[in-house]
Amino acid sequence: MKFSKFVCKCGCGRIAPPDIEQLIPELNQLQRILWGVYDLVRGSWEAYITSGYRCEKRNAIIGGAKFSPHIWGIAMDFALMNLSHREEVVEYLKSLGIVRVGHKKYEGIPNHIHIDLAHKIADALYEAKKIPVEVWRAYKEAKEW
Ligand SMILES: [Zn+2]
Ligand SMILES: [Zn+2]
Repeated sequence: MKFSKFVCKCGCGRIAPPDIEQLIPELNQLQRILWGVYDLVRGSWEAYITSGYRCEKRNAIIGGAKFSPHIWGIAMDFALMNLSHREEVVEYLKSLGIVRVGHKKYEGIPNHIHIDLAHKIADALYEAKKIPVEVWRAYKEAKEW
């Protein structure tokens, strides 16, 4: 498995925050799910990863949401070489059980699709007081946005 495209682009070399495995022991497995999904997508359509883990510093620099799931190493953005496949890919992602798919938000760069597994780590983060209740609620939502 190649995580190189998933590594934070700031140069910190990380794929997840330093303290996360105490909170979320299954993080590595969840990251493998993301990668598995990406490999499946890539098997049928041309795609490349544009964003994986972002440390808080990197997230702030690029103007990401304060509690973007990317800061936990649990989100991935990828781009499709062929825009006309987007709806097909979104349907495919849903058929794989990926319940959080952000594609409509990329109006300016419509070949981009975001997927994350924030719903699977929401409880642990909330219990550890890493996220406020409204973020917990947002993470729990299965949605397209
Ligand atoms: Zn970084
Ligand atoms: Zn994203």
